[in-house]
Order: sequence, then C-alpha cells, then structure tokens
Amino acid sequence: MVRLLMYNTREEEKSWALEWAKQNNVEVEMTADLLTMDTVEQAKGFDGISLSQVAPIDEVVYSELASYGIKQIAQRSAGVDMYNLELAQANHLIISNVPSYSPESIAEFTVSAALNLIRKVELIQARVERQDFRWTPEIRGRVLGDMTVAIIGTGRIGSIAAKFFKGFGAKVIGYDLYPNALCEDVLHYVDSIETAIVDADIVSIHMPATADNYYLFDYDLFRKFKKGAMLLNMARGSIVKTQDLLRALDEELLAGAALDTYESEAAYIPKDWSDKPIEDDTFQKVLNHPKISYTPHIAYYTDEAVKNLVEGGLNAALEVIQTGTTKNRMN
Ligand code: NAD
Repeated sequence: MVRLLMYNTREEEKSWALEWAKQNNVEVEMTADLLTMDTVEQAKGFDGISLSQVAPIDEVVYSELASYGIKQIAQRSAGVDMYNLELAQANHLIISNVPSYSPESIAEFTVSAALNLIRKVELIQARVERQDFRWTPEIRGRVLGDMTVAIIGTGRIGSIAAKFFKGFGAKVIGYDLYPNALCEDVLHYVDSIETAIVDADIVSIHMPATADNYYLFDYDLFRKFKKGAMLLNMARGSIVKTQDLLRALDEELLAGAALDTYESEAAYIPKDWSDKPIEDDTFQKVLNHPKISYTPHIAYYTDEAVKNLVEGGLNAALEVIQTGTTKNRMN
C-alpha cells in the first residue's frame, strides 16, 4: 500500500485526509510539524509527502528527502515561492501545487467585502454597540447595481467576481494582460489600468504578485481614481503601496478600502497576536483606520477550499508516485 506523510497538518484537515485515504486505499499519516532539518527524518519509509509550508525549506532537506527515495513534494496551496524549484529538480523532486481550490470562495468574499464597505456595516455595528440607533447620512449606503466595478486581473477568481458583480446589476470593466473572450458577456475590456479605474466606483485587484506589479497601486495611480472610489485587494499585498493608500484615504481621494492582504503580513498571518504589540507602524495604521476593513488573508477560507486543498495535495502526490509526474508540476 502507498504510504504518504502530511506535514503541517491542521486539526481541521484530518477528517478530509482520512476520508481521501479510505477512498484511494492509501495510508496517510499526519503530523503538525513543519518540514525542517530536524523533522525530515520522519519521511523515511514513506512513498511521498504533502506540505502546507509557509517558510522556505532548508537546502539540505531536498537531498535528504531524495536519499530516502522520495520523488515529490505536494504543496497544499497555489503559491510555491517557499521552494527552491531548481534545487528540488536537481534532487529529482517534483514540486506540485493546487492551482485552483475554490475561486468562488474568494470571489464571494470580494463581493461581501464590497457590500460591507458600501453599506458601511462596520460603522453601523460600532454605533449599535454604543446603542446609537439613529439613521444619519454617515451610515447611508449605496446600491451596488448603480455602480461601476473595475476588475483588474480576470483569471479564475476575477472572472467569477465579475459575474457576481454583474449579477447585482453593476457595470463591470475588465483589465488583464491577456483578456479572456469568455468574460466578454459580463464585462467590457479596456486596454490599460488607467482607463479601467478612471470611472470605477469600486476597483478590485485579482492578479498575482509579480516583479512588474510591485507597488503598482501607488499615490500617482490613486490620484487618477474617480473621487470617492473604493479599493478591494483580495490578491497580494505587494501590489498596493500601503503608505500611499493611507495618504489617498486621508486626503479623501478614496472613500474606503477592503484589504485581505497586506504587504508585510508574513510575520503576523495566521497567528494569534492578541497578547503582543504590533511593531509594524504601517500595519497598525491599517488596523486602526476607520476607512479600511482589514481581514487576515482569509478570503479563501471555507470548508470547500480546505477540503480541496487536502485532496488536491494528496492527489498530486499519488499521481507522481503512480505515473512519474503530475499536471500540477511546478518545476
Ligand atoms: P489566475 O492566474 O487565474 O488569474 C490571474 C490573472 O491576472 C490572469 O488572467 C493574468 O493574465 C492576470 N494578470 C497577471 N498580471 C497582470 C497585470 N500586471 N495586469 C493585469 N492582469 C494581470 O489567478 P487566480 O486564481 O484568479 O488568483 C488571482 C490572485 O488571487 C492570486 O495570484 C493570489 O494572489 C490571489 N489569491 C488570494 C487568496 C486569498 O485568500 N486572499 C486566495 C487565492 C488567491
């Protein structure tokens, strides 16, 4: 029987992993440990491994795994930037990812973040906590169906978010380096970010972080937004220059922002920081800002996504063991 070891296993993943093991007639063992020099030996005797690694792996771990006869590392996320893909390949280790585990989860969260902003839900809740039940213009909302939404990046997630926004009756504008003809029934493509944002009431970012789009959303771009527009970033923190966003909000160029990602989130997410001070001043400003709704990289986090990540990782591991490769190979 094939034997797989799942590192970094969270309690919530166990029942799906055991169910998958039963269905596929594979033995799956689980540990909460990260894969490090100190824990790599646990992989001895297994045919393959699945990881949910967030930190880079010690270089010597790759050769150690290879010396145990292991042929792959199946990461349970879309991103594989924590791996040295070349070094893995030099050690005949196939790194795989789970490219799409529930784009609907992120798209739904995006629309709910937009609705929370335009209906001023956080402000209403703060007032209700003070037993202030008045109706005053500060908490008066707007109707999504009267708005123009710009989707920047119309891939798996952006295209679904576009469909959802269209469902509310919004006019949807799209910008992508590679426009997708299948999206044209829900959005109208334009050929630059500047054209996409100029008339948009809501700008929603759905592209991956690349060297080319680092700090793409900076003060110069915010000055070109429609006055009073709102920004949604459910993609990656590095695409938005946070200091410039704070300035644009304080100068009332923008009316609000919903951020599920922050440029220096790695130190904090996903950890319980309740007893410790936040030492990053910019992050602290984001958390305290009355016009920012911040969530800790949680847009993906649904039953469906966690199940698909567990099954996707284990499927890729088994595929490599049985066929020598996988369609989700990243190196
Ligand atoms: P995808 O690859 O299907 O789509 C990304 C799209 O962006 C592609 O169509 C691509 O052509 C386009 N693009 C790339 N660079 C661009 C640029 N400079 N300008 C315009 N368009 C550009 O990816 P996806 O599955 O839709 O995911 C999008 C992003 O969402 C991910 O890369 C990730 O950063 C983020 N994400 C966030 C969460 C979360 O929980 N918040 C979860 C998963 C993914």
